Amino acid sequence: MTMKRLNYQQLSKNSPCLCFSDKERRNRQQIFTNLPRKRAFFNNTLKKFLIALSIGLFFALNSIVFAQVDGLLPECRYDDIPAKYTDSKDWQISLLDTIYKLDENYAPSDLVNLSTIGFDKRFSLRDFVIDDLVKLLKAAKEAGNPLRIQSSYRSYDYQKSTFNYWQEKLGQTEALLTSARAGHSEHQLGTTVDFKSLTGLAPWDYNDWATTPAGAWLKENAHKYGFVMSYPKGKKELSCYSYEPWHYRYIGIEYATAVYESQLTLREWLWSLAGYLHQE
Ligand SMILES: [Zn+2]
Repeated sequence: MTMKRLNYQQLSKNSPCLCFSDKERRNRQQIFTNLPRKRAFFNNTLKKFLIALSIGLFFALNSIVFAQVDGLLPECRYDDIPAKYTDSKDWQISLLDTIYKLDENYAPSDLVNLSTIGFDKRFSLRDFVIDDLVKLLKAAKEAGNPLRIQSSYRSYDYQKSTFNYWQEKLGQTEALLTSARAGHSEHQLGTTVDFKSLTGLAPWDYNDWATTPAGAWLKENAHKYGFVMSYPKGKKELSCYSYEPWHYRYIGIEYATAVYESQLTLREWLWSLAGYLHQE
């Protein structure tokens, strides 16, 4: 193109009448003069098209993402749908919330009384939880933050009386946020522990137990021993329960670390992991 243009300019300059008529020369000059303008017009149109396309794609993708999130995790509500993955081997992925529940006859067959590790005989957990629990308690003690157990496995009937207690004490609305109805408690899985400090009040009697040395240590270290805080602070709309800095569920070190690092609530994490997609 550059060569042609030079040739034309040379020809038209040296012998304008030999090659082109005046009209043709003007036409050709016009074409060359307009070329940059046409290119600019094309470039601008392309730019505008690409910008419009990007904006369109952004909103399209946005709506898809939000639609997926809506589809992934149902809003918290109160229902009594049998939970999936409640076989005893599915202890890591059983998902309980205010919607999904365990059968009233669900009771792990491998519960071990915690008197075997020096705790009150009221407490029991599934056998595979014990080793890591002992390691966690030892590490907490060595860090200067000894922990005790406030609660562990609770049967369906025990949970029923627990909920009734809180309902009478706090009223229905508050009880639903702070205590699970029978069948909906992770304590029935036999893998969940409510911790407390060695001395002092019950953990729920503190403004925020996770700001005490023992509670703070547990928050930062529990996952290293396979435990996850099920109901973290400020996530009530996702976890369906008020903040419970003492309530930890055992899901094994690998999963607990993944949940901790994801910064998702356990409910969100399990929902996507356990294939609850489109279950609604
Ligand atoms: Zn609890």
